[in-house]
Amino acid sequence: MFQTYNNAAIVSQLKHAIETKKLHHANLISSGPGEDGLPLGLTVARLLLCENNTDCGTCKGCTRVNKLEHPDLTLTFPVVSGGASGTSDDYIKEFRSALISNRFLDPESWQQQISTKNQQLQIPIKEIQNLQHKLSLTAAEGKNRVLLLWMPEQIKPVASNKLLKLIEEPLPNTYIILISHRKNRLLPTVLSRCAPWHCRPLSSDSFNKELSSETSATAKLLEMVYAPNLGAAITARQSPETTQIEGFASWMRTCYKGNPVEITEVVNELSSLPKEGLKTLIYRAQHFLERGFYHNVQATEGSATDLGAINVQKLSNSVLPRGAQTITSALGSCLRDLERNVHVKTSITHTSYELHKAFRGLV
Ligand SMILES: [Zn+2]
Repeated sequence: MFQTYNNAAIVSQLKHAIETKKLHHANLISSGPGEDGLPLGLTVARLLLCENNTDCGTCKGCTRVNKLEHPDLTLTFPVVSGGASGTSDDYIKEFRSALISNRFLDPESWQQQISTKNQQLQIPIKEIQNLQHKLSLTAAEGKNRVLLLWMPEQIKPVASNKLLKLIEEPLPNTYIILISHRKNRLLPTVLSRCAPWHCRPLSSDSFNKELSSETSATAKLLEMVYAPNLGAAITARQSPETTQIEGFASWMRTCYKGNPVEITEVVNELSSLPKEGLKTLIYRAQHFLERGFYHNVQATEGSATDLGAINVQKLSNSVLPRGAQTITSALGSCLRDLERNVHVKTSITHTSYELHKAFRGLV
């Protein structure tokens, strides 16, 4: 099994359905981004392709699914435009390595791995057009054929009907597993034709288990910043330079100190980030500070007060409820400024001084 954390009940229901040959040919697994959806989908694929019908984990079928190289496993996922063939295949190597190293892969981590620019992820129309053909080939191993389609919500509307057709006209021994993070964006006709499997969100327990090799302070910081998106936390741990964790920490530190020269420096750095990256960083700041202050970290976390670069206890001790309001409104208006393309430096400078005042109880 690909370890999932909060959905053992769904795993056993799916297993039972497969063992009794009652699995619907089209399934929709929904979960939050970076949560149990992808590992659950992979588990279903392995159950369907295991040579011993048990998800043994060691047969040729299971091994090939583990490497995401099983000839009867078709992977369809969103990509950025510009690939040679205009299908998911352009990025299959990158996708395999991303998903093998992080089975909770979230859309943002994936986007960052294949594009340095702020490009939107999309499932190419051509990809969907080719699926019918790909799936109609006889199963190479003579057993089941599985389509694992990550983020059907990223299919352009013109291609959605092709997907619908695929679902409506099932091919023998072919199973479609859709994994969605925004199922309200799917066509109602697609929704109504799939067996729904709705994952429960991940708890902090799953973060403790998955990040158990980290020091407790780092694990706690990752959880506070990213929960419930475990995939993003794993990415941050694997490559701190590609996520904003350090940028976030140094920004908060600078705001706390309030030295104008340092604030100017950090503002210059932040405003050179791509806009989406900057927005993410601000969302993280909001998320982190809300958790830190409103839920009173120092009361619950005991020794984990020095979370990497940020001394949360120091911060949370000094923030009055009035300060918390200032933080929320400063970050909120900064995000609105970015949406409206207001001068980025001006907005971040203003926000930094507002945060400084809030952290020091000067509001
Ligand atoms: Zn097996």
